[in-house]
Amino acid sequence: MRPGFDLSGKRVLVVGLARTGVVASLFSAGYGAIVTATDEKSEAELGEAAARLRAANVKLTLDGHAGANFLDQDLIVLSPGVPAKLPALDAARARGIPVWSEIELAFRFLRGKLVAITGSNGKTTTTSLVAHILKMANIHTLVGGNIGTPLLALVESSLDTTVTVAEISSFQLETIEAFRPDIGVLLNLTPDHLDRHGSFDEYAKAKLRMFENQIERDAAILNADDPEVTRRMPAKPHVFWFSRQKRVAEGAFLRDNQIIFRHDGSEVPIAQCDQISLRGAHNVENALAACAAAYLAGADPAAIASGVKTFKGVEHRLEFVAEIGGVQFYNDSKATNVDATRKALESFPGPLLVILGGKDKGSDYAGLRDLLQERAREVILIGAAAEKIAGQLAGAARIESAGTMERAVELARERAQPGDVVLLAPACASFDQFENYEHRGRVFKELVAKLEAQSAA
Ligand code: ADP
Repeated sequence: MRPGFDLSGKRVLVVGLARTGVVASLFSAGYGAIVTATDEKSEAELGEAAARLRAANVKLTLDGHAGANFLDQDLIVLSPGVPAKLPALDAARARGIPVWSEIELAFRFLRGKLVAITGSNGKTTTTSLVAHILKMANIHTLVGGNIGTPLLALVESSLDTTVTVAEISSFQLETIEAFRPDIGVLLNLTPDHLDRHGSFDEYAKAKLRMFENQIERDAAILNADDPEVTRRMPAKPHVFWFSRQKRVAEGAFLRDNQIIFRHDGSEVPIAQCDQISLRGAHNVENALAACAAAYLAGADPAAIASGVKTFKGVEHRLEFVAEIGGVQFYNDSKATNVDATRKALESFPGPLLVILGGKDKGSDYAGLRDLLQERAREVILIGAAAEKIAGQLAGAARIESAGTMERAVELARERAQPGDVVLLAPACASFDQFENYEHRGRVFKELVAKLEAQSAA
């Protein structure tokens, strides 16, 4: 049984009014709470959300949190972008006021089963794949969390037979209390967001909170090939492993070309590995984790096999765009760091024309040298980091500065030979030339579509 929470007549302060905070405010007000919402933004910046909140009787304290009352509250709900360690929040905690992330509140209201997925990389892909498989298995499926729709927005549609698949970030896990997924997945642990968490250990601890309230009948699905994960195995839940490299006692692994799920000593063949529709070894890991989660959530092997085969992937993650004159174009705009670009390069034998660059995050691009030497015909640079990248990768491949994405796509088309792959996997943030990585990916795809139209004409 979930603990629930009676919002009626309670004083609730919602901190942060991006999408999640707006949903949390309206949700709480809808259940009869007396809601105040605070943000650093002004009323004008909030736009139409301000009017909607006021119409629902939510009191707004804008232009900074200083004017907000953090102490005379029964509950404080944080948006994912708000640091959990603000002094005002500590003062509230000292008074015994619960400070929760939105996922904690949602957990108490959602009906049905909860599959929660976290990790440093692969969360969005795996969450989408699990949801796709469950839908193929005719299970009533909802999907949300860090992936777009806040979990609170799913509450109304959830039924006792629903499986909710949630992408969960380390930030959201920092402020849980009773949050307890029936099935929790930890994909991998590599350094990320250390600016906010302080150290790798603190970051790993936040991710591991996923399992802290689980009991014996709950499942933890963990990466057996990641030593940072194996040495942090949680004690209470039933642990299932996934591995690309070895057989596991309980969980999903590869034998020859088969994905096998092993449980209680029996082995169930689930799907053919070469039918996974996504490229790259990292996506085999995501698929193994997804198969295990979907199986434990009740999907039958046939549905899992067809789900794995028909999943089209997520936009901007090694997304196939077009083939023009025997040259394939791929968009991996989400590869915003060196590690993700390495995974992208490893996914193609070559020859590759790789578009790199953007806003530097203090990265060491020399980490790409060996793979570029091995697989790249050419490196084409865009954005502010071009000079730094050119310096660190000199001699690894032919390197040319294009400056803009327009010129980069043009150059790639000129230089590519049939059988080559043009890969946008920039290893940088996008904010120097684009609004975000999605915008960068869309611009790339539009340019490729223009090329395609020209070559068809
Ligand atoms: P997240 O939601 O955790 O950011 P995504 O599914 O959006 O993960 O993938 C982000 C990037 O990370 C992709 O561009 C891909 O290159 C890389 N990636 C995806 N899955 C994995 C994985 N299992 N291990 C390492 N890198 C991965």
